[in-house]
Amino acid sequence: MAMKTLLLILFLCVPALTLAESHLAGNLIQGGLLQGRVTPGTRVFYGDRPVKVSAAGDFILGFGRDAEPNHSLTLIKPSGDIRLEELQIGTRDYRVQRIDGIRKNLLNPNAEELQRISQEAALVAKARQLDSDRLNFSEKFIWPLTGPITGVYGSQRIFNGEPRRPHFGVDIAAPTGTPLVAPAGGRVTLAHPGMFFSGATLIIDHGHGLSSSFLHLQKILVAKGESLQQGQTIATVGASGRVTGPHLDWRINWFEQRLDPALLVPEMPKK
Ligand SMILES: [Zn+2]
Repeated sequence: MAMKTLLLILFLCVPALTLAESHLAGNLIQGGLLQGRVTPGTRVFYGDRPVKVSAAGDFILGFGRDAEPNHSLTLIKPSGDIRLEELQIGTRDYRVQRIDGIRKNLLNPNAEELQRISQEAALVAKARQLDSDRLNFSEKFIWPLTGPITGVYGSQRIFNGEPRRPHFGVDIAAPTGTPLVAPAGGRVTLAHPGMFFSGATLIIDHGHGLSSSFLHLQKILVAKGESLQQGQTIATVGASGRVTGPHLDWRINWFEQRLDPALLVPEMPKK
């Protein structure tokens, strides 16, 4: 609302929209991450939502699994000039994945477990809300682990015949104990030894709301608050939480928006 008032005032003062120098790159697609660069000091709004801009003018935006196709970006230059960008987000078709043989108590948690689940979800949500000044999001991401991909982003899951929430990570199969590395630099914001669904869970902040989550770990080898370099060993693959076998489930978020990690990395290297 304050934003609309501000825009109205600026529209009244500026007779015509002036095009500013700006650059947008990345994936304008559901699950994609957009990297933008604007004149330093420019303010950026994604719809009504203010977006952090670095001192050099870098910012990012993420589009969730079911992101609407039309979005607007408003850039307000230090001079007061305004540029409106219409963003067209490509839509995707998602796979259907059937998984059977999941223990019944994991699918139908009791009251006590539901309470635990909501407490753990709050911890994860809090870690993902962080809007730090870190710039690791601009690194070229690498795979945290290589191996067969057994689950992809966005797939609709059917557990024991019942439709469930979509899958938001990339699953990479590997034997328990296989080390995995930080896909980009960052800082550990959550290191939990055992959550109900996701088992031992690690979250790394890459800056400006971009975070990586690593689920079902065997061992976490870094501590909350620790700064990490890309490629540093951070944990080992496990089968903790709701799983049918050892694998890594790697997720990427832009705040609450779930992105597709596979869009940030090159093709999986062949072994
Ligand atoms: Zn998974």
